[in-house]
Amino acid sequence: MISDSIFTLTHDSKLDDLLAANQQWSKTMNDLHPGLFREYNAKGQNPHTLFIGCSDSRYNEGCLGVLPGEVFTWKTVANVCSPEDLTFKATLEFAIRCLKVNKVVICGHTDCGGIKTCLTGQIEPLNDKEGLNCQHLYQYLQDIDQMYHEEKSQLANLPTLDAKSKYLSQCNVKRQFARVIENDTVKTAIANKELEVYGLVYNVDSGLLDPVISN
Ligand SMILES: [Zn+2]
Repeated sequence: MISDSIFTLTHDSKLDDLLAANQQWSKTMNDLHPGLFREYNAKGQNPHTLFIGCSDSRYNEGCLGVLPGEVFTWKTVANVCSPEDLTFKATLEFAIRCLKVNKVVICGHTDCGGIKTCLTGQIEPLNDKEGLNCQHLYQYLQDIDQMYHEEKSQLANLPTLDAKSKYLSQCNVKRQFARVIENDTVKTAIANKELEVYGLVYNVDSGLLDPVISN
């Protein structure tokens, strides 16, 4: 099939296309990294890092140049880490206590849809039952909206929407970082000198990471 896109699949792709793409991917991975599946991944995982990122389609733990088996991953909308979220607490326990990762990366990104929704005052339409009908997302993004309101005076000094959006991405990494290091599992591991936590922002226009904060 001839396509003018660099992407593998589209909205028109069906299960057969997904399975064909998977066959090709598996073969390519085997050619590039002989033994990756059979000699390494088949025998278990020993990840060194927990990667917490936004669910955005433009980045994941692959930005670290890693192979399957190296990084345990949790992605959420706008990389929000709510302290009482069971998934948050369980993921940290599994990664740190069971898998023994010694690094946690909390990685936000530029041009984040969740952040831009709040920044451009588009959060209220999410709650419209006759419109977008996204009540859960509306509720979920209250944390980001609150951050936006807290940062309003700083944002006023920034010239463009892109600059404001990137600034809020950095603020959000610091906000979620503070929650990660307050988690009991993380706290204990840091006290035992078994864990480092890094806050980063991924630039979708370059593929590069900016360090923001670390413990
Ligand atoms: Zn995002």
